[in-house]
Amino acid sequence: MKLVILGATGSIGVNTLDVVARHPERFEVVALTGHRQVEALAAQCRQFRPAYAVVAGAAEAGRLAGLIRDAGLRTEVLHGAEALVQVASLPEVDAVMAAIVGAAGLPPTLAAARAGKRVLLANKEALVMAGAVFMAEVRRAGALLLPIDSEHNAVFQSMPHGYAGDMPRGGIRRILLTASGGPFRTTPLDRLTTVTPEQAVAHPKWSMGRKISVDSATMMNKGLEVIEAHWLFNAPADRIEVVIHPQSVIHSLVDYEDGSVLAQLGNPDMRTPIAHAMAWPERIDSGVAALDLFAIARLDFERPDLARFPCLDLAYRALRAEGNAAAVLNAANEVAVAAFLDRRLSFLGIADLIAATLDSVPQAAVPDLAAVLEADRQGRGAALEILARRGVTAA
Ligand code: NAD
Ligand code: MG
Repeated sequence: MKLVILGATGSIGVNTLDVVARHPERFEVVALTGHRQVEALAAQCRQFRPAYAVVAGAAEAGRLAGLIRDAGLRTEVLHGAEALVQVASLPEVDAVMAAIVGAAGLPPTLAAARAGKRVLLANKEALVMAGAVFMAEVRRAGALLLPIDSEHNAVFQSMPHGYAGDMPRGGIRRILLTASGGPFRTTPLDRLTTVTPEQAVAHPKWSMGRKISVDSATMMNKGLEVIEAHWLFNAPADRIEVVIHPQSVIHSLVDYEDGSVLAQLGNPDMRTPIAHAMAWPERIDSGVAALDLFAIARLDFERPDLARFPCLDLAYRALRAEGNAAAVLNAANEVAVAAFLDRRLSFLGIADLIAATLDSVPQAAVPDLAAVLEADRQGRGAALEILARRGVTAA
């Protein structure tokens, strides 16, 4: 299988290459992208010898080209957003791992769908922003969309064989998305006002990029995942429930009309869903250890507390509002998380800023990519303006 990895230098990208390295006869890397992480990308090029490597701008491209030459490689170095779209739609490519973080991942991920590729979707923000447009392209082009997000991958594995988006026909009552609850599940509420970026990114169960780690701490990650599940499985908001499960062993569940509940379990290691989607419908070694139920001993469940996690409620509201609301929510969240990581916004300020942004951007339909990008632009603009008005300088 000929593979492109968008966001190869990130947490998902590195785990993907770990699986690739275990099966050299099965996977061939055609292109890797790494934005500004030039040295890490050069090391990956030396190991996997892709035909193309993509970075952010001309300066990064110059540096990477030098390293490629020094290593005696033939990798062609490209740069810019257009180059991401170009490698995602190369005719010789079978599968595209979409693992860029945030809205920047939307155009190349959509391009992979348009080109009818096997799309391995980690970049949940793309689907949150552009769900209707994205799913329409997948259907039109006959792309195979396989979820990498561990919850959605678990739901996919627990769905009826050949599930095509009809929950009643599949006898499905509910989708249950599990959540670890992040690092602040039991922190006293009055202490949340002073938590630092370092505390927020120290996730108890998963090792991930900084943005998704903050999203896990606010539970916006689960909110984005509710919206993601809506589009992937054609599930209405009131049929998607969130269950806090601190051990992160059950990755999600499907509740059927006859009372059966099917789930996927495993150690919390992203190489399992990555290997599952890369090899589907076959199964291959991912390097993940066998699950030791005796060591785990018990599994706990709690209902999420919306006073503690207002971002989860905001995401449900945006999903129910339809139109541009989810794109605005996502844009405001990206601005808020960046400001929090830069110590320009408090942890509790994240939810406040998103709520204020949602209130200030008028509702609109999003029939095409241009409308989605406009909603993203408006959401970012409004969030930055609210931040500035509150005496916080914009990035
Ligand atoms: P990360 O921050 O570790 O890596 C992000 C990658 O995107 C890097 O390769 C980086 O160079 C690249 N990138 C960043 N900004 C870019 C831009 N503007 N243009 C082009 N490339 C850019 O993030 P991650 O944790 O690997 O997450 C990637 C995506 O996968 C996110 O959408 C996240 O929500 C999703 N996801 C991650 C995990 C996980 O365990 N890490 C689990 C589920 C879903
Ligand atoms: Mg997830």
